[in-house]
Amino acid sequence: MAARTILNTQCLFTLSRRAYSSTGDKNVAFLGLGNMGGYMAANLVKKGFTVRGYDPSKEALAAAAKDGITGANSIAAAVDGVDVVVSILPSNKVVLDVYLGNDGVVKHAPKGSLLIDSSTVDPNVPKQIFPVAIESGVGFIDAPVSGGVMGAQNATLAFMAGGRKSDFDRSVPLLKAMGAKQYHCGDIGSGQVAKLTNNMLMGITGMATAECMNMGIKMGLDPQVLLDVLNNSSARSWSTEVYCPVPGLVPTAPSSRNYDGGFKNELMVKDLELASGMALGIRSPIPLGAVATQLYRIVQSRGYGQKDFSFVYQLLKEENQKN
Ligand code: NAD
Repeated sequence: MAARTILNTQCLFTLSRRAYSSTGDKNVAFLGLGNMGGYMAANLVKKGFTVRGYDPSKEALAAAAKDGITGANSIAAAVDGVDVVVSILPSNKVVLDVYLGNDGVVKHAPKGSLLIDSSTVDPNVPKQIFPVAIESGVGFIDAPVSGGVMGAQNATLAFMAGGRKSDFDRSVPLLKAMGAKQYHCGDIGSGQVAKLTNNMLMGITGMATAECMNMGIKMGLDPQVLLDVLNNSSARSWSTEVYCPVPGLVPTAPSSRNYDGGFKNELMVKDLELASGMALGIRSPIPLGAVATQLYRIVQSRGYGQKDFSFVYQLLKEENQKN
């Protein structure tokens, strides 16, 4: 019965296939229905897109089915006849396999379709995929996101895209259905450069905020008074205003809910390592980025990879107790 549903949907998709369409892209394949992708695909359905999903995890497919996403049992089946493919996947290797593998997207996506990869990866990954995609008659952009799982759930993500302007323009109705902001950052790979730059800066300011607040509090300042001073002085940042690492001061910050439900420390390490690799490749000095990478890696090696990255405050505070 499930197989028949998939087959019928495929026929419908094939009938409605267009050679190229800058408007009216309605049939979408969504690859990677995890913490981010599950919500993003659900938002596409809510905004009137027809979505067929693929994920090797049966649990992810079952959860997506409840949000109106039709399951497919392979990448080829998922992309058959669609107008657009959206993916958000864990790593460089998975993205390269999914797009360029024998059973991959580029081989099976219809000519004239548009491929949008929202995974966070090395900028060289989209640069490898792009020429193969163009050669096969499909468009391709990298469009990583900022805003986390809550942004994915509430459709408030910021998309930073790289690729041909015409492909970006075509992607905008879909990006708007899943997020609040869309930027065209330049040629292919530029979205990843913007994303990794943002996250290295976020990691550095997060670490700096944790370090300095720990020092001020250890010197005897009232934590709330210290935060008020910082938020009205020259050290103010997103980390002090929205993401204070000291529990109990900003009720909506992950630190105030035991560092759960934020941006996982392990994802911060992943992004800092990707950013460090990018910097090494062009010999751009990143002394602070390198320290931040090591510090968050230590948090992870102590077993706190699943906690929000602002947990680094607890690591520094622990050091207080040793002397
Ligand atoms: P996740 O692990 O929850 O989801 C990834 C999904 O991809 C999983 O369901 C997995 O089964 C699926 N997958 C693995 N191999 C696949 C394949 N061959 N084909 C199809 N699906 C496959 O991860 P996530 O938190 O949703 O993150 C996804 C991407 O988004 C990562 O690149 C991450 O760095 C980035 N990102 C995550 C966040 C966040 O807060 N979670 C924020 C911004 C960016």
